[in-house]
Amino acid sequence: MIHKIFFLLGIAFFSFMTNAVAQHKLPELPYSFNALEPYIDAQTMEIHYTKHHQGYVTNLNNALNEDQKKLSINQLLSTVSKLSPAIRNNAGGHYNHSLFWTILANTKNTQPSAQLMKAIETQFLSMDSLKSTLNKAASTRFGSGWAWLVVTSERNLVVCSTPNQDNPLMDIAEVKGTPILGIDVWEHAYYLKYQNKRADYLSAIWNVINWEEVSSRYGEAFQ
Ligand code: MN
Repeated sequence: MIHKIFFLLGIAFFSFMTNAVAQHKLPELPYSFNALEPYIDAQTMEIHYTKHHQGYVTNLNNALNEDQKKLSINQLLSTVSKLSPAIRNNAGGHYNHSLFWTILANTKNTQPSAQLMKAIETQFLSMDSLKSTLNKAASTRFGSGWAWLVVTSERNLVVCSTPNQDNPLMDIAEVKGTPILGIDVWEHAYYLKYQNKRADYLSAIWNVINWEEVSSRYGEAFQ
């Protein structure tokens, strides 16, 4: 009898652990809410991370059926055309913000790696030209969305933008590839400080880009 109880408890525990592993989770923010001041204010960071990103994580977990819970975030994104709009929006929102927090940092002296700088100069002629190309993609994205620097399967660097929470890893994306830098141009990303002035937010954000992380993602895109 006692063995049977332990056996059943074991099954219950195993099933609990299996479910726990399948849940998507809010990643830890790698700095404090005020770390990006004065370029991105602490209140925006706190609401963006604890409310918006947490919302995408919660809604993603609620939208997935048992089979879909076994898939990684990248597997969800690459097959998103076959999945529900709720999964598309929330898997995208979860992935995009997880990337966004890591490519920002209050580290003004970070520089692109020699490998990345060479690719930027080959593709865009200069860092300034890359920034203006990305800012143009970000400022002309109508409504909510993202601007991206992407490594394509041909190993070229390209700039593009996507609507809503779509991204270049999705099978429905116009430009596909591995995003290594993403700029959130939803109003929730800047409205408290910059109100309607998206362009001011876009010039400020270059002060807090973590080029070490972008370079590291560039290197990984080749592996
Ligand atoms: Mn956002």
